[in-house]
Amino acid sequence: MNQSIHPKSEVFSESIPRRLVVLGATGSIGQSTADVILNAPGRFVVEAVAGGRDAAALARQAIALGARFAAIADPAAYQDLKQALSGAGIEVAAGPDAVIEAAVRPSDLVVAAIVGTAGVNPTYAAIKAGRTVALANKECLVCAGAPFMQAARESQAVLLPMDSEHNAIFQALGGRAGNSVARMTLTASGGPFRLWSAEAIAKATPAQALNHPNWSMGPKVTVDSASLMNKGLELIEAHHLFDIPADRLDVLVHPQSIVHGLISFEDGAVIAGLAAPDMRVPIAHCLAFPERVATRARTLDLVEIGSLTFERPDFGRFPALQVAMDALAAGGSLPTVLNAANEIAVERFLAGKLGFHQIAELVRNLCDAALKSGEGHAPATVADALAVDHITRERARTHLA
Ligand code: NAD
Ligand code: MG
Repeated sequence: MNQSIHPKSEVFSESIPRRLVVLGATGSIGQSTADVILNAPGRFVVEAVAGGRDAAALARQAIALGARFAAIADPAAYQDLKQALSGAGIEVAAGPDAVIEAAVRPSDLVVAAIVGTAGVNPTYAAIKAGRTVALANKECLVCAGAPFMQAARESQAVLLPMDSEHNAIFQALGGRAGNSVARMTLTASGGPFRLWSAEAIAKATPAQALNHPNWSMGPKVTVDSASLMNKGLELIEAHHLFDIPADRLDVLVHPQSIVHGLISFEDGAVIAGLAAPDMRVPIAHCLAFPERVATRARTLDLVEIGSLTFERPDFGRFPALQVAMDALAAGGSLPTVLNAANEIAVERFLAGKLGFHQIAELVRNLCDAALKSGEGHAPATVADALAVDHITRERARTHLA
């Protein structure tokens, strides 16, 4: 049984305010996290914030949250950050090591909300230090799921799922072991192309892919939601978080994004987790766990919504989901390859250098190439996974040259 995901309430300090670190503080999740914190005076204090390269935004966030330490990954942004925070009494540092320092500063809970593989090392450092980690960054578990979960068991770090589907399932489980259920279902909104023809999807532009019907999120996860790769990444995330085999995981398209996850038992009972599509709900659940804290999220009004509908995903029009499910079933290094290849593909698509339909194609080709090169074995450590990630990016550049 996977203990990391079954925190006992006694592992949580009763200390109020709870001390937080926010990695990815300037992003979409980071901003929603700040909203939850600022709406609950006296409940939280912020030890450190970290961001990628936007010094002005990080400085604003550090001041708004009263952080003691602000770390920016891009060394070139150091002077700007230092200047923006001069006289504020906030310690400043730059570079990847500074982000790791933020991750391991003394805290009760670390919000892991850096996007992509860039989040792997800092999140891993927090887990190794035995911190409670609220995990928004799904790429960590896709890139290096087994080593991450192993490290959490060893350090007794608690992982709280912040991704809305996993958070809903975690709440529905109510402390039961994830692998004790007959079936676990993640819902997908279907994204902006749910009703589009395959021909139209193939020609979709970045602006169209970024126009998500229900959620307001960072660009990478929004494109992943349009291709349904996001749901594939989330199946892999659920497999590791809940220690549940791939053949008991399922996806349903649910355009209203109200039911986020469901668990089905062998006796036929089903428990679902519902909430308005607002990340402040799962964020607040993680920040306050096992208590509750009020948010500014809209109260769910089922009468106003009227009906909840469900469809099977269409793998023909959304091949990325199939590619991800195949990688999960194959195991070994394929989820790591999938994650790296997808990150490059999304970057290129957003830069206007790759067609939308080529995202899934590139990812599949790179998974095939890894197998053909005899590189299909599972990475034993996070360093091994990052080496696979690196090789995949190099290979992607050759494929695209
Ligand atoms: P975003 O692009 O809005 O923000 C990303 C954050 O990461 C920014 O603060 C950025 O500065 C920071 N960052 C980038 N590179 C960095 C680096 N090298 N070091 C330190 N910080 C770095 O992304 P987001 O939408 O907030 O998503 C963050 C993560 O949460 C992703 O993994 C995403 O899949 C996941 N997630 C997001 C949502 C959502 O609603 N936005 C929902 C579920 C899961
Ligand atoms: Mg999600």
